[in-house]
Amino acid sequence: MKYVSTRGKAPILSFEEAMLTGLARDGGLYVPESVPELSKADIAALAGLPYEEVAFRIMRPFIGDTFTESEFADIIARAYSGFGHAARAPLVQTGANQFLLELFHGPTLAFKDFAMQMIGQMFEAALKRRGDRVTIIGATSGDTGSAAIEAFRGLDAVDVFILFPYGRVSEVQRRQMTTPSEDNVHALALDGDFDDCQARVKDAFNHFDFRDRVRLAGVNSINWARVLAQVVYYFTAATALGAPYRKVSFTVPTGNFGDIFAGYIARRMGLPIDKLVIATNRNDILHRTMETGAYTKAGVDPTISPSMDIQVSSNFERVLFDVYDRDGSAVADQMKMLSDTGSFPISQGALGRLRELFESGRASEDETTATIAAMFRNSGEILCPHTAVGAKVALEKADPSVPMVTLATAHPAKFPDAVEAAMGLRPPLPNRMSDLYERPERVTRVTNDLAAIETLIEEKISA
Ligand SMILES: *Cc1c(COP(=O)(O)O)cnc(C)c1O
Repeated sequence: MKYVSTRGKAPILSFEEAMLTGLARDGGLYVPESVPELSKADIAALAGLPYEEVAFRIMRPFIGDTFTESEFADIIARAYSGFGHAARAPLVQTGANQFLLELFHGPTLAFKDFAMQMIGQMFEAALKRRGDRVTIIGATSGDTGSAAIEAFRGLDAVDVFILFPYGRVSEVQRRQMTTPSEDNVHALALDGDFDDCQARVKDAFNHFDFRDRVRLAGVNSINWARVLAQVVYYFTAATALGAPYRKVSFTVPTGNFGDIFAGYIARRMGLPIDKLVIATNRNDILHRTMETGAYTKAGVDPTISPSMDIQVSSNFERVLFDVYDRDGSAVADQMKMLSDTGSFPISQGALGRLRELFESGRASEDETTATIAAMFRNSGEILCPHTAVGAKVALEKADPSVPMVTLATAHPAKFPDAVEAAMGLRPPLPNRMSDLYERPERVTRVTNDLAAIETLIEEKISA
């Protein structure tokens, strides 16, 4: 399996190279040259298997010869052993044909653990074999960073630097990043918003001299290996609800378009997904794009669902590449227009295809809060605010005859203030992390300046 860049000009890479590289050298994102299709019988055979076994069967065709079968099975076993639920991604029914897919039983209580734990184990195995060492740099609106730090802490071959927007992550998210005491972990609080963090990470990758000197590797959701790990739970959920003999719909609380892009890949692999619904908070660039056909940046407006407070949705480039018939130069032109003018139009043909693939909706702050309260009243389930954005949109889009699964992207205890304000109860942290508030914090404040960030990284890795 080979990987090509969405901008058409970077070298074609193997899975291992694409994983270790992250962002392509032409500024694009790596995607598989083709997507393997499973037969109906292959999909039916997944029903009832342990999560790890499904993960093996879904991901195996994408990894080429990067790992042997037994190495890969061990990687998967290690990645999910720290999860607090035997099903890894359990389904909960909340209404007639309405379900939640609980993706928050990993070590940092958000769905990003599914991908990040896999990446940590895959990096370690690949780097050890190569006798190599890398510097991981990532931007986070809160959950990616804690998941990355948790996945890489204490590994020999990796230093991990996470940029988060100062003052704009929840206390639980911050503490999950600042309390690990391992020397290879570096939490950096940047004076700016998430888009600034993401832009500086991209700038560092595009500064090839620095990139090569510190052997930069990326684990943001632009890393293909992360998308791949997220494809798995669409299969476990849909087969539990009757796929491939029955269609299933999914609503996905979306920011960087990574999780929902994984659903799109699952569908391309043959999973009969009926609707794939984009749910945004009031930072609704994706919903507006679907409605108007123009992808236009606006300022980021902080919300109670901060992990979706994004106006440049990186993984959207991957689906653009497909709806533009894999024309890398067309995508490159649009991305250039976006960075020059803050906007680009989508052609009628491509927009038509996007609308066949996805539906979209949005939830205001009041609607999000009301959904948390209503869900607790009606089903006893406690939603995090991101999940509530999804649940609100899912109700609007649901067709009563098709199961609708909302991805529950984080544990409510990660966002206790918003949940308490909505329903009057403060959700407790699971026992395994109840001392989080007592652990000492370690963080470095940085200005929104590439040179300053690069200097800091070089100082820390040579220390
Ligand atoms: C990251 C995140 C999202 C958005 O996921 P994307 O893959 O970036 O679209 C939604 N909810 C939570 C809790 C998250 O951490």
